Amino acid sequence: MAQGPQPLMSLDEAWSRLADALNTWPAATGRQTLPTDQALMRVLAEDVVSGVDVPPHDNSAMDGYALRLSDWQQAGGVGAALPQAQRIAAGQVGAALPPGACARIFTGAPIPDGADAVVMQEHSQRATQGEPGGDLVTFTQPVQAGQNIRRRGEDIACGQVVLSAGHRLGAAALGVAASVGRAELTVFAQPRVGVLTTGDELVMPGQPLPPGGIYNSNRHTLLGLARAAGAEPLDLGTVPDRLDTTRAALRAAAQSCDLVITSGGVSVGEEDHLRQAVLAEGGLDFWALAIKPGKPFVFGWLRRADGSRALYMGLPGNPVASLVTFLLLARPAIGWLAGEGWQLPRATTLPAAFHWPKPDKRREFLRARLNEAGELELHPHQGSGVLSSAAWADGLVDLPPQTPVNPGDRLRWLPWSELLHPALSARQP
Ligand code: AMP
Ligand code: MG
Repeated sequence: MAQGPQPLMSLDEAWSRLADALNTWPAATGRQTLPTDQALMRVLAEDVVSGVDVPPHDNSAMDGYALRLSDWQQAGGVGAALPQAQRIAAGQVGAALPPGACARIFTGAPIPDGADAVVMQEHSQRATQGEPGGDLVTFTQPVQAGQNIRRRGEDIACGQVVLSAGHRLGAAALGVAASVGRAELTVFAQPRVGVLTTGDELVMPGQPLPPGGIYNSNRHTLLGLARAAGAEPLDLGTVPDRLDTTRAALRAAAQSCDLVITSGGVSVGEEDHLRQAVLAEGGLDFWALAIKPGKPFVFGWLRRADGSRALYMGLPGNPVASLVTFLLLARPAIGWLAGEGWQLPRATTLPAAFHWPKPDKRREFLRARLNEAGELELHPHQGSGVLSSAAWADGLVDLPPQTPVNPGDRLRWLPWSELLHPALSARQP
């Protein structure tokens, strides 16, 4: 392997290389049919076409009275009264409205034939008359044709595609599927994402900490991110800093995973075996990015026994670098494998509430959060080992190379929500 300083690749170039690699990768094919209420955050594998109009009938938007505008005008308009002929609650179907009468009606109830407006009950007065004329209702405000009527099909028309394949199903989308009567949805299988941590110093929480040891935090961060990104996470444990054990762990991981993620061991130190192990067990596509944190990131693939391949991403061991490279590079790959298409996070622009006088040559991703004034505040410790900065933050400032910041400067802002689930519709790489 080449030694010496590595020319660093820009993140945009890395994204484009990754998209190219994914484009040649087998698309998400596994499908599953789930009850609609169990499909939250899954990716639709079918277009959902409505077989009904929503709402299915013209209905009242208010509790009040349905009437025929011309009857009320003939009775004298504002201040005129009409007898109440019937009462229609939600779930009931009323009779056609007799000439010169009104109907008591409640929100969601079908508009009776002949009625063309609903007056809210706050704009009416009732006088009890008893039979045979029924109660008399006086309407105290001007009435417009069609007022307070929700039209059949005004939300969704029969035959309309209401949700398209590739849509990640939020709660509103589950409601939309239910509103057209869908009890089940066909979704893509979740990609299987393995997380392997490396490092002789790593100790699992719950164990005593020996001299020289540190608790393994990346395992929890990365498995949590994989789950939050919509993957099926697989905990592949921890391997010591040895080439043979690392190779064996990668070989085993490739069999059961679509994407194998490792943390640590991707730098150029003598204890860093990942790149050599990946070269032996598959191949490298690119590594060493012009970003901070996250420079040692590695992308490649691993061979399976049947000749197929698993994707491989080597994340740096420093906890913030691990988290940032997961969100910038592993998350889009998981979205692609999940059937969402290729989506990159889209930054918004917000003013800085801080000074950053000594910027880096690399594109920097700074942990920040929003203050009450809607400005970005920086965590005071931006070291790539300071994971508490990420738990404190609301997201990342995406700062171009060599860009000093003064208060008021407008910065590119990537909240965690956008990094995890970009608010873009699905598209092809
Ligand atoms: P490495 O990339 O293996 O050189 O690790 C860089 C730094 O990250 C070292 O300080 C490691 O101890 C630390 N580190 C590596 N893996 C983990 C992990 N799983 N949890 C917490 N810290 C880690
Ligand atoms: Mg290490």
